[in-house]
Amino acid sequence: MFIFKNNKDLLLLLDSVRKNKQTIGFVPTMGALHEGHLSLVASAKKQTDFVVTSIFVNPTQFNDPTDLLKYPRTLENDIRLLAQADNHLLFTPSGDQIYPKGFNKNRVFHLNGLDRLLEGEFRPGHFNGVAMVVHRFLELIQPDKIFMGQKDYQQATIIRQLIQSEKLPTQLVMCPIVRSQKGLALSSRNTRLSPQWKRKALVLHQSLRFAKAAILQKTPIQQIEEEAIEKIKSAGLNPEYFTIINGSTLKKAKDLRENLVAVTAAWAGDVRLIDNMLLLP
Ligand code: AMP
Repeated sequence: MFIFKNNKDLLLLLDSVRKNKQTIGFVPTMGALHEGHLSLVASAKKQTDFVVTSIFVNPTQFNDPTDLLKYPRTLENDIRLLAQADNHLLFTPSGDQIYPKGFNKNRVFHLNGLDRLLEGEFRPGHFNGVAMVVHRFLELIQPDKIFMGQKDYQQATIIRQLIQSEKLPTQLVMCPIVRSQKGLALSSRNTRLSPQWKRKALVLHQSLRFAKAAILQKTPIQQIEEEAIEKIKSAGLNPEYFTIINGSTLKKAKDLRENLVAVTAAWAGDVRLIDNMLLLP
């Protein structure tokens, strides 16, 4: 596996990949890799010839500076996992490669309002930072496909919007959520959960499954949301939202015939977790 820190090395190699008529798949991550990330690499390997994974803890997407400091960093283990997964190139740039002197970090991306809903309400500026870093990577790498997890449903939807509005020549592939055997969506943040909180946090998956079953029985949307919130509270978590949305507009769904997705965010102690589920088969 190639491991590059500099744009120059990366671009030189990608040039030769393209000259060989190989397609490029890109998997952006912030490291602390787990099976969820590796599933993206596996999909990228199936669908493209040459897979670039990046590890970059992007400062512009953290609205809480302590969250940035607390973010787990496990580079040696990440390298081992990516090598085992037969990833072709790992790009671990430093901040000055991504945001060189003079880079406009104040740029505002027009994301059709998708960035202000749901997570955007609780994490102001977060998605503008995500759009900024992904835009920068897409400009550098120019992949045929970018692979992102459904785990961050809103994030993937926003990047799809970014690709469309910036007319970028990359296709977004959204890959399914990888869960623990008991149902907890894998996340780098789970390492901060005690065994007790890990057990309690299973309520998120349970409430999503409840919502899916209730939708099939045509239960009114608002009633499902209220009952799901109660379930999450009674397990001891502190929910921020449990909302059934239209999966394209991310707005609250009004009608059972829409492309429904249930999305939720809740605090398990001092760890904020998100999860979601597509509700229609
Ligand atoms: P992160 O390193 O947390 O920024 O995540 C990098 C990518 O991995 C994003 O596209 C996430 O949606 C995806 N991802 C994280 N956790 C999972 C999971 N449990 N299943 C599938 N994809 C995931």
